[in-house]
Amino acid sequence: MGDIIQLLPDHVANQIAAGEVVQRPASVIKELVENAIDAGSNSIQVVIKDAGKTLIQVVDNGKGMSLTDARMSFERHATSKIKQAEDLFKLKTKGFRGEALASIAAISHVELKTKPDNEEVGTFIKIEGSKLTSQDVCVCPQGTSVSVKNLFYNIPARRNFLKSDAVETRHIIDEFQRTALAHPQISFSLVHNNSELFQLPETNHRQRITNIFGGKTNEKLVPVTEETEIVEISGFVGKPEFAKKSRGEQFFFVNNRFVKSPYLNHAVVSAFEGLLKDKSHPSYFLFLKVDPKSIDINIHPTKTEIKFDDEHALYAILRSAIKHSLGQFNVAPVLDFDR
Ligand code: ADP
Ligand code: MG
Repeated sequence: MGDIIQLLPDHVANQIAAGEVVQRPASVIKELVENAIDAGSNSIQVVIKDAGKTLIQVVDNGKGMSLTDARMSFERHATSKIKQAEDLFKLKTKGFRGEALASIAAISHVELKTKPDNEEVGTFIKIEGSKLTSQDVCVCPQGTSVSVKNLFYNIPARRNFLKSDAVETRHIIDEFQRTALAHPQISFSLVHNNSELFQLPETNHRQRITNIFGGKTNEKLVPVTEETEIVEISGFVGKPEFAKKSRGEQFFFVNNRFVKSPYLNHAVVSAFEGLLKDKSHPSYFLFLKVDPKSIDINIHPTKTEIKFDDEHALYAILRSAIKHSLGQFNVAPVLDFDR
């Protein structure tokens, strides 16, 4: 029998990778906004049409790209963020896989405009299904604008699988809020079908939370701070009397990255022991800083799961820090109240 194995062409490999990286329009927003943050932007605008199904545009004022980098950025495993395996243990950036732009460009129509601040003119590139269809110079401001049109145009099954505009918009808002919460020092806006959903000025964590979740949130927040050898904790928990039936506002950020952690969630909930009415969920906005060496964020392509070296210690520290804060703020057990 003859040999039958061959390497897949790039555009096919990209399309397969895209299946993992891009589940829905919200995934594209996550990747593009993370790139904007990694580029050092302090102002990021997100524009979507039809829940991101027809257009997702992210405009930043970050460092921009040279012509060569702009072309390179759509290659798979092309990244400026790590160079060698060791770098995986000291990640400071959100991205590092070099997969997002290649994946997105394999399954949509992408237009990129970018200009570094030391150049007179910028670069304008169009890519459709991994193929470069046009390249030109452009007169544009410093920074980068990426427009993603007709997501999943060449994967009808995926496109049909998308939920209603309302549901997809909800996912987008969730993603947007997580990122905005993690980076209060960056201004963000989100515009959907020409109406402005968020306009968030540069500020601090407390004010950013209030700007997103409404003015009344401020009085509900109890600050939490702790500093130990293995972790630095800051942020807020909601007072127990404001706990909700639904799990609404529960956020963990590890090194500015939103993560899901049922285990740490348990630590928080257990710190509220005796303070919550049955089946109600406390809100929390907790920012953990740990040595990048002590975590592995590479276990999932979308990077919302994370592995800690010393989970048990972290659990104990978090729980006691929150108990302490709740105690300090004289949060007495309230077992009988109506909301
Ligand atoms: P990763 O973020 O994992 O490196 P991406 O595919 O998301 O991979 O991006 C590839 C590269 O393109 C990045 O490493 C970066 O150098 C460049 N890049 C992407 N988006 C931007 C941006 N908004 N501003 C400047 N450079 C960018
Ligand atoms: Mg990226």
